[in-house]
Amino acid sequence: MPVPAGPYAIPVVRINVGPSRTHRMSAGCGNRFRRLGRLPSVIQTVEPKGVGNVSASRRQLLSGAMLTALTGCGARGPGGSRRGGPPAPAATGRGRPGSGPVDGPPATVFAGRSAVSGLPSRAAIVARYGGLAPHGWGLHLPGTVSTLPSADKVLALTFDACGGPGGNGYDHGLVTTLRRYGVPATLFLNARWIDANRPVFAALAADPLFEIGNHGTRHRPLSTTGRSAYGIPGTRDCGEVFDEVAGNHARLTALLGTPPRFFRPGTAFCDDVAVRIVGELDETVVAFAVNGDGGATFTPAQVTSALLTAPAGAIVIGHLNHPGRGTARGVAAALPRLLGAGFRFVHLPAPTAGSRLR
Ligand SMILES: [Zn+2]
Repeated sequence: MPVPAGPYAIPVVRINVGPSRTHRMSAGCGNRFRRLGRLPSVIQTVEPKGVGNVSASRRQLLSGAMLTALTGCGARGPGGSRRGGPPAPAATGRGRPGSGPVDGPPATVFAGRSAVSGLPSRAAIVARYGGLAPHGWGLHLPGTVSTLPSADKVLALTFDACGGPGGNGYDHGLVTTLRRYGVPATLFLNARWIDANRPVFAALAADPLFEIGNHGTRHRPLSTTGRSAYGIPGTRDCGEVFDEVAGNHARLTALLGTPPRFFRPGTAFCDDVAVRIVGELDETVVAFAVNGDGGATFTPAQVTSALLTAPAGAIVIGHLNHPGRGTARGVAAALPRLLGAGFRFVHLPAPTAGSRLR
């Protein structure tokens, strides 16, 4: 597919890394996760010293990669469908993926919470968080998750599908490779990408190898003050943060029959108040420890190198919406070597109720 212009420019970005913090996480992630091995119960966010534990070449890769646009995402401007406002009612029970309703009237709200989903209403979020000033902005903030709670040779692969103009592609080769090796992954899907790839979405959602995460409604950096990342305007206030998270939360809940547990903002940038709002909506912000494809700009060799040098316990970010880039070939070269070296691949562990910031 053609390479979209613009969003792949590499800007100068100041990364605001929060203080060290640990979060309680449960040891399991359902039957599938338990089959893959039990993990300790503490998960940590990435800190500068975490980067310092790796080799010079690794540090160079990490620093460069973290400053590389995560806009494999291709969402500049207001392209794509607008799905603001309160979420549609969530389906109950476990439905067949792709068969449930998507749009509907706003959920009835009682005492600030939806009578259907049990989540806070938009008005309740605005009332609670609208007066708070954020103190952090970046890729790795307290309350976000970047690593697995294990010192074993385990990695968690995550791939984003960002949607919108230039971002609705599907990397069939990448998914075929993951299936060939039986490697699980968490797929962060944007509402616009789901709209454009409904049959593919249904197939991915039905495959137990993959967990589906929320990659936002309009693919905006998650800001409560309108901050931008890579030239992409962020959400402007707490109400828009709610819209960005809850819109696709309701959509995924309706399609999957169960709500998504994990959220990754468009561009992965967020502020600390927004992180708390995501927690209110029963999702956890997932960052990353290793940038696996530089926003789908890496060559296959660079992707392979990023994976082969990933430290144990890393959450790796890549993209599944840019076939023809280096991601699929780089992953295909790395997986057999990592498996041969004794690495295991796991889903993200389920957060406990107390792990989310509220
Ligand atoms: Zn994205």
